[in-house]
Amino acid sequence: MPPPFLIAIDGPAGAGKSTVAKALARCLSFLYLDTGALYRALALKAQREGIPSADAAALDSLCERTKIDLLQGDAGMRVLLDGEDVTSKIRGEPISILASAISAHGPVRKALLSVQRRVAEQGSLVAEGRDMGTVVFPEADVKFYLDAAPEERALRRYRELEHSHENVNLDSVHQDLQKRDRQDRLRSVAPLRIAEGSHVIDCSLLTAEEVVEEMLCEVGRRQRNRRKCRED
Ligand code: C5P
Repeated sequence: MPPPFLIAIDGPAGAGKSTVAKALARCLSFLYLDTGALYRALALKAQREGIPSADAAALDSLCERTKIDLLQGDAGMRVLLDGEDVTSKIRGEPISILASAISAHGPVRKALLSVQRRVAEQGSLVAEGRDMGTVVFPEADVKFYLDAAPEERALRRYRELEHSHENVNLDSVHQDLQKRDRQDRLRSVAPLRIAEGSHVIDCSLLTAEEVVEEMLCEVGRRQRNRRKCRED
């Protein structure tokens, strides 16, 4: 049995990370980890309890009494918040903004670290988020940074929300995205940035299939290198 192979995908909101990460995981028969869903689940609980995103002490205590589990199934990854399946309740824009705000707190990031690393112990993995290659899995075998023009990202996010019957307009989606970009890039803990050694893909003009194809080429190249290193 070859040792598990770890693929880290980072990038800003709306770049299409989830679509390509899921497809890549399917092609390779790897596990798939959507780390944004963890921050979203915690944000949902903060919202339900009326905890303001700036209240560090309340967020600390929230982390201590919250259990988030991930289930890998045929229909993809499901998120359990204290045992409740919240997978379909965490995709809307208010939760996106709140997730981005609470994710700037060090204790929140620390609390979710072990959940993410536990998934990597289960086998080869495609993990997507903002700090996969920089903080959570710096030892990843391949790191990708997926980006696209802000207007294109806003449009993709808008279509995704429209598809899940959210009542949205393109302008407000664009504004939300800019706000999240700023928060995610400027925070002092684990800010969004290109991890060293990342393969950067600008997918503004590429289809998801083209991106997956490019990723598969790069993964194949690294897998061959790794095999060769083990044989030498
Ligand atoms: O990826 P997604 O849009 O679902 O993430 C929601 C928010 O969670 C992001 O805007 C970001 O602030 C936060 N996040 C993070 N680190 C990750 C994944 C998501 O800070 N690894």
